[in-house]
Amino acid sequence: MRTRIRCHSTGTRHVLHPTSNENRRSVNLQSSVKVQHKDVVIVGNGPSAITLSYFLSGHWPYYNGADDFGHPADFLHDRLQSRSDVSLVLQDLKELSEGLEGRSSNPVALLYDILSHPDADTGQDFPSLLNWKFHPEQAIDHVVLGRGPPGGSWQAMDGDILTISRGVWMQLANLSFRQWEESARSGERQAGTRQKLRASVADVAHYYQDYVDVQGLATYFRNGASVTCVRRVDQKDVLPGTQELWQVTGHVRTEEGVEEDFHYVTPNVVLATGGFDLPNRINVAGEHHSFVIKSLAVMEQLIASRKLSSSSDPVLIVGAGLSAADAIIAAHFHGIPIVHAFRRKADDPSLIFRQLPCNMYPEYHKVYQMMKDHGKTYSGYIPLQEHQVTKIDSDGKVSLQGANGSLQRMQVSYVVVLIGARPNLSFLEGNGGRLTIDESKTISCRTNPLDVDLFSLESNKEPGLYAMGPLVADNFVRFAQGGALAITNQLHHKCAREKSLKRKKIVIQHASASISCDL
Ligand SMILES: Cc1cc2nc3c(=O)[nH]c(=O)nc-3n(C[C@H](O)[C@H](O)[C@H](O)COP(=O)(O)OP(=O)(O)OC[C@H]3O[C@@H](n4cnc5c(N)ncnc54)[C@H](O)[C@@H]3O)c2cc1C
Repeated sequence: MRTRIRCHSTGTRHVLHPTSNENRRSVNLQSSVKVQHKDVVIVGNGPSAITLSYFLSGHWPYYNGADDFGHPADFLHDRLQSRSDVSLVLQDLKELSEGLEGRSSNPVALLYDILSHPDADTGQDFPSLLNWKFHPEQAIDHVVLGRGPPGGSWQAMDGDILTISRGVWMQLANLSFRQWEESARSGERQAGTRQKLRASVADVAHYYQDYVDVQGLATYFRNGASVTCVRRVDQKDVLPGTQELWQVTGHVRTEEGVEEDFHYVTPNVVLATGGFDLPNRINVAGEHHSFVIKSLAVMEQLIASRKLSSSSDPVLIVGAGLSAADAIIAAHFHGIPIVHAFRRKADDPSLIFRQLPCNMYPEYHKVYQMMKDHGKTYSGYIPLQEHQVTKIDSDGKVSLQGANGSLQRMQVSYVVVLIGARPNLSFLEGNGGRLTIDESKTISCRTNPLDVDLFSLESNKEPGLYAMGPLVADNFVRFAQGGALAITNQLHHKCAREKSLKRKKIVIQHASASISCDL
């Protein structure tokens, strides 16, 4: 049998060619692209995917017992203590996480966070209540596909900025960030208190890359891999009695710089693609011009190459979040004249700056002060509160409108738009829009994430498809990791069910074979 399959997003054609009728591992491609079979394919290689790979490779967490400081709460301790010899991977996560409250809407994320960072929300740094055992016999065959090196979006961010979170909250399972930092920094001068509490993005990115090597996960990772299409294998290609399968295709850049296509077939796909691949648009005429940029890293490159300097026309920075603040800090540091346009009032209580303690985030409070100062004190910085860009002309002239209807037009060197970002699921049919909670709205990591079962993170709309991290509204690394526990728990139960089904089938086959022999 030959079946043509068309990928909705790329339109590429492949020919499927079953070679034997034994099982699902029989599907083969006639083209030069070899079909590879995996139990799980993970798309994305950031902290979410790295943690999941650690779990799937057979590293399982166990409850270590209560500490001397009253962690965890008695009711949780009682639940955990009664089965402390059983890994959380094999326990009933719904029962364990019932009644937990915190800064994630995913109960398993809360459970994992409470155990790995007890009392973190009160700013404490207590040791983890989990210990880890390696069960190589439980490893699930998987591959992690990600565009850049392991670390995901951390590899693409400006390395000089500091994390919003404390450095220790960026650590992944069973490898202390602090100890890693100490060994990485041995011989270097100790950093100041502020730097110690927060980490540099460069250090976090380096830690994630080291983590994959230190924990022996490199064999599961295919870096430099872009997934262009995830779709179901047509039912008619699936042999009766086998699971529904997904095909995952794309291309990978090898170490020699050669582009190769890949093609995986799997019953389980995990989306761990993060929430920051598509920068939000201001939706005005002229937004497409090359001097309109949407990334801090690109602005840094312009500064480094002297295309943007203190003698340039002002740079217009749009937005009032932390990324816009980072851009202001960078431009101000280099003496570049800045016009800063933002939609809200400078004293709007919902601005992010007001939620950050001043002693831990002095740089952001400085920007906040500049915004409120109406340009009186800080030379080279003009804040335009309650202003929106209305048009960008090709000659670099930008039109802006104020709240009172006032209009102004100014010459700028670059427009830097930093007003948030959203996930890019273009490799799924309909850009994955059907998978969100409210299909009529655009996907959003805060207000319209993917619709998943809370305890397994399996899509409520597409069985066999899972999501984690910002895609399910866990926007901090601390919480994204609980998703790995939820998914591994589900996959182990699924595998166990399949194994027992297979065993039953073999018993039935043996029984019917011996009956026919007897006849
Ligand atoms: C500027 C900034 C600062 C932040 N600071 C903090 C902080 O201090 N603390 C904190 O906890 N969180 C912070 N976050 C959020 C944090 O980055 C995320 O919570 C975390 O990285 C999510 O991890 P992830 O693995 O789910 O996704 P990501 O880290 O985003 O990784 C996903 C990766 O998958 C890749 N990918 C996407 N599509 C494909 C495809 N089709 N094929 C192959 N690869 C693909 C992406 O390019 C990306 O590299 C910050 C985010 C930003 C943008």
